[in-house]
Amino acid sequence: MASPPSTPEPTARLLRSEEELALRPASERIRYRLVTAERRHHANDNIADFVREGELEELKAEVQAKVQDLLRTLVIDTESDHNTNETAQRVAKMYVDEVFRGRYVPMPAVTEFPNVGKLNELMIVGPITVRSACSHHLCPIIGRVWIGVLPNEHSNLIGLSKYVRIADWVLSRPQIQEEAVTMLANELQERVRPDGLALVMEADHFCMHWRGVKDNDAAMVNSVMRGAFLKDANLRREFLSLLPRRNA
Ligand SMILES: [Zn+2]
Repeated sequence: MASPPSTPEPTARLLRSEEELALRPASERIRYRLVTAERRHHANDNIADFVREGELEELKAEVQAKVQDLLRTLVIDTESDHNTNETAQRVAKMYVDEVFRGRYVPMPAVTEFPNVGKLNELMIVGPITVRSACSHHLCPIIGRVWIGVLPNEHSNLIGLSKYVRIADWVLSRPQIQEEAVTMLANELQERVRPDGLALVMEADHFCMHWRGVKDNDAAMVNSVMRGAFLKDANLRREFLSLLPRRNA
C-alpha cells in the first residue's frame, strides 16, 4: 500500500549537515536535536532546551498546515464554511501557545528563599485549578491539586503563586494524570527540598464524558506521598483531613 504523501522522512537518518538541516521544517530540526542528544520527547516531556529562537512560530505554521489537512481529510469544506475558515490557525495557536505550552517553554522563573524562620509546620497549598489534556485522546482534563509541604530548616521556600505556575507548566502538556502528579512532585522536591511532600490531584477527564462510556461521574483522584508523609501516618492523616471535602 502506498504511504500517504505527507509522511515525513524518518529522522533516523542522522549526520545531516547544518546547511542541510536548515532547509528542513522546524519540527524536523528540533526532533533531530532531540534524537542526536538521545533525549526522550514523549507528549509530557519539556523540550524547551532544543527549541531555538523563532522556531515556535515556524512550528505553529507547520501545525496549522497539518490541522488544515486533518479538516480536509474529515471532508470539511473549510473554504465555504465560515465557521471552520480559520480553525486550523486557531487550533495551532491553541496547541503551541496555550494548552501544550508547557512542552515548549522553559520552567517559569522561581525565586527560592532560604527558610530563615525555620518553619517546620505542615503547609498546604491549594486547591490549584489545573488544566491539561489526556495523552490518549487529547481531550481536556480539568482538575484541582493540593500540595502539602513539610519544610525543614534547610528547605527553600517558594511563593504561593509559584506553586501555581509550576503546576500550570507541568500540566500544560498532553498528560496522564498519574505521571503529571509524579512530575510535579519531582519539580517541587528538587526546588523546595522538604522533609515531606504530598500531592493530591482530582480531575475530570472529558474523554470519559464526550466519548467511550460517556460516564458523567468520572473524576479521578490520585496522590503522591514522599518522605515524612510516607513514614508518618499521623502527618498523612493531618494533611488529608485538612483538604476540603472534595465533592463539596
Ligand atoms: Zn483520554
